[in-house]
Order: sequence, then C-alpha cells, then structure tokens
Amino acid sequence: MTELPSEYHRRLPYGERMSAEPLLGTPFFPFEGDVEVVRLADPVLPEPPRAGEDGGRQCVKCADPEGFVIWRDEQWHLKAGFEASGLPFVAVLEPREHYRLDNLPAELTATLGPMIQRVANAIRRIDSVGRTHFNRWGDGSEHFHLWFLARPLGMMQMRGAMIAAWDDMLPKVPDAEFAANAQLVAAALAEDGGEPIGAGLPDAE
Ligand SMILES: [Zn+2]
Repeated sequence: MTELPSEYHRRLPYGERMSAEPLLGTPFFPFEGDVEVVRLADPVLPEPPRAGEDGGRQCVKCADPEGFVIWRDEQWHLKAGFEASGLPFVAVLEPREHYRLDNLPAELTATLGPMIQRVANAIRRIDSVGRTHFNRWGDGSEHFHLWFLARPLGMMQMRGAMIAAWDDMLPKVPDAEFAANAQLVAAALAEDGGEPIGAGLPDAE
C-alpha cells in the first residue's frame, strides 16, 4: 500500500467490513435486515485525475456545452434529463466556462448564492416537490457543478443524504412528466433573467 498520509489514515481498518448498525433503524436509512457493508478499500494516492484534469478524460461538459441544458444566462446553465429519475426532478448547475470551485472568479462566486436560491425556488414550483436539496461532490468531474435533488412532498423518509439512493430506487418519472417539470423550472428561472432552452428533453406533450 502507498505510504499512509495522516494519522487518520493509519487508524482505519483496511480490508475489514464496518458494521451497518449505527444506521439500521434510523429514520433516513432505506434498508433493513442483514446489510453487509463492503470491505474498506485502501486509499489511492495520488488520487486518479478527474474528468477535465491533466491526464484524465476530456471534460464532458465542455465537449458538449449544449447537451441537456434547459436554461442559461451569460454565466450559468442548468442541465436536467441525463437519465430517468425516480425523484420528481434532478438538475445540475454549472458555470458555462470551465472552472473549479477554488478558481471560480469573483463575478461567479457573487452570483452563485442567488443562483442556488433561484434554482431551489424554481424546483419547488413543481406540485410534487416538498423541498429542494443541493449537493456539491465534485469527485467525478473537475468542472464545478452543484446537484439539485427534489424531495417529494410529504415523503419524510427521503430527508437527508440517502435521497440520492432513493432517486435510483423509486419508480422512474415518465419522460413527458419530467419534461413538463423541466419546462416549468426553466420558465420560472427565466422570470428573473436568462433564457429557457428546450434542447435535449423529450416533448412534454
Ligand atoms: Zn469543462
């Protein structure tokens, strides 16, 4: 194994299985019964390059800048419809230019907060949505992106981080309904600027 970089790393039991016990029976954990946790893998150092980094795959966002875009302004675009979703709506907010979080210019960091508010409010207009969750992971692609996940109204089991797992497990939203939701979100965003884009989505009719 690579030399371990910190005391934290030296403490971890590589190759062993953690117990799922702390999660079992908690309100947000969607599994019960005998759950076997995968074995803890060794750290990979240096970390492999993400898409868009030197030595990594091409940035898919920059290779296809129009793909799945449902709304855009001069700085940002919102994408949706990459794959069938179990949640009422899933979207990604990205700067139109290739930046990481740590080198995002001041003119973009200044509008990031207002954009989060606008996207969350727009998604909440969908009648099946109770609240809009958002997350930045960023371990797959270097191009800065924020995920927005619509938590269905009243579905209190789906609060918290496991909402991403529920998205994979719930029955898929029909294409026409998802497209109608996307049009509603794009139109709501456009009320405060930018333009709705229809490309990449199935017809709502
Ligand atoms: Zn990019």
